[in-house]
Amino acid sequence: MNGGSKAFVSGAAGFIGSHLTERLLTDGYSVTGYDNLSSGRKEWLQPIVGDPRFTFIHADLLDLETLTRTMQGHDVVFHLGANTDIPRGNTHTKLDLENCTIATSNVLEAMRTNKVGKLLFASSAAVYGEAPVYPTSEGAGPLLPISLYGAAKLACEGLISAYSHLYDIQAWMFRFGNVVGARMGHGVIYDFIAKLRRTPQELEILGDGKQEKNFFLVEDCIEGILFAFQNATENPCDVFNLGCESTTKVTEIGRIVAEEMGLADVAFRFTGGKRAWPGDAPVVIFDASKIKSLGWKAKYTSSEAVRIATQRLLGQE
Ligand code: NAD
Repeated sequence: MNGGSKAFVSGAAGFIGSHLTERLLTDGYSVTGYDNLSSGRKEWLQPIVGDPRFTFIHADLLDLETLTRTMQGHDVVFHLGANTDIPRGNTHTKLDLENCTIATSNVLEAMRTNKVGKLLFASSAAVYGEAPVYPTSEGAGPLLPISLYGAAKLACEGLISAYSHLYDIQAWMFRFGNVVGARMGHGVIYDFIAKLRRTPQELEILGDGKQEKNFFLVEDCIEGILFAFQNATENPCDVFNLGCESTTKVTEIGRIVAEEMGLADVAFRFTGGKRAWPGDAPVVIFDASKIKSLGWKAKYTSSEAVRIATQRLLGQE
């Protein structure tokens, strides 16, 4: 499937969704972007506003009637819309249930009604919780999430698997590592830049700074999604770790951000404990051999991705 096909992108005004939408248009798709602008920004769509092949629907995934009506006639759904403020979801306990799990149930219902047969879903490494083994492969288990965000994503994977089996929907589910790049509205790099702008001499680091995760660039992420879509076609429902196998420790991110901001002698102040907030998995190390065996791997290492994303965020305003 490519040029001429009609793609429906939920979360299209978000960080990843806006980059994906641009790429799909470049590849020749017509795209309907659907977003309630809760964390997405319409300005991220500015480069494509005016393209006659792009339509933006400002609406909520919880509005099943609008979702079903606007999805009519599409060939494929890229479902990225979700609450992405993980700490907030742990205190506002309906946030992930509604904007991730119920929203995904609605997307699946709209697909069933409209007979749309292909779904690509943005899941997360958060489904692993504190993974039972590192590096973690897709077969690791039991899956015991430790945040409501992770729990909601895991519930979505379950719903997608069942709908795929029952209603002939082919599904690709991607457990992303930490995706980074321009337009990010959250995450450790974004936070460090904001903090260092306020107090250039000192950086508060949540946790002990030893948290270690894989970071990968947004264009690598999109390349990986589209690669699996084209090349992993034999299974009706499949799940992939999507990220790179190298990692970066949080203290190292602090060093990279300070260096890119031209700040010397920044004092790091750690809040202590092994995680940044309740529900934060301190270590995310991927075994990405499943997607690698198909021929895809991230172009940049984790620390290269962190540096490039920092440069892009700093150059953004
Ligand atoms: P983002 O917050 O920029 O994008 C999410 C988009 O969904 C936003 O534009 C928001 O307005 C929209 N949205 C939220 N609730 C909605 C609702 N009820 N109805 C309609 N639109 C709604 O975040 P992102 O980083 O671009 O994340 C995109 C997807 O990738 C999300 O599903 C996220 O969980 C997943 N993911 C991201 C990362 C990462 O590192 N960025 C890691 C793992 C998974």
